[in-house]
Amino acid sequence: MVRTRKLIFLDRDGVINKNPAYKDYIKKPAEFYFLPRARKAIRLLNEAGFDVAIVSNQTGVGKGLFTCKDLKDIDDKMRKGLEASGSKVRKLCYCIHHPESGCDCRKPKTGSFKKAVGKSKVNIKSSFYIGDTQRDVAAGKNFGLKNITVLSGYGKRSSIKNWKAKPDFITKDLFTAVSRIVLK
Ligand SMILES: [Mg+2]
Ligand SMILES: [Zn+2]
Repeated sequence: MVRTRKLIFLDRDGVINKNPAYKDYIKKPAEFYFLPRARKAIRLLNEAGFDVAIVSNQTGVGKGLFTCKDLKDIDDKMRKGLEASGSKVRKLCYCIHHPESGCDCRKPKTGSFKKAVGKSKVNIKSSFYIGDTQRDVAAGKNFGLKNITVLSGYGKRSSIKNWKAKPDFITKDLFTAVSRIVLK
């Protein structure tokens, strides 16, 4: 019997690390800064038996603004920072394609979520996608997940009420979102 894994899906920018300027990208490790309590939040998930997968659009690669090597260097910085605080992300699923490539992994499409699940058995309906934009909510809904929008990124409480796709919960940051999941 395949054991059902508890898997939480996280957007990266604006959730784990500080967002770049609007319409810009995190192009190199020096531009990657953890948001307060983000690492602690991921540790809390790990300790509660959740695996964590990052599902993120990194369109800047497809646009030629940075390379896969840059993205990997950023991942290395993130991984080291996470390890140092005893937390771990199991899977990194990025869409690196140009918006007009017609790929199936650019959010709000769901290819990257499928990749994150892989061959594991995951109860999608009781799992969450935590992001900071309307596109994140749309993507999570398309995959059948519940959605939490954090206010540590682009999404502001005043604009969220005008979003077409509404999150199930709005929280201050990743730590508050995770507390809600873990302590429920
Ligand atoms: Mg984001
Ligand atoms: Zn893609």
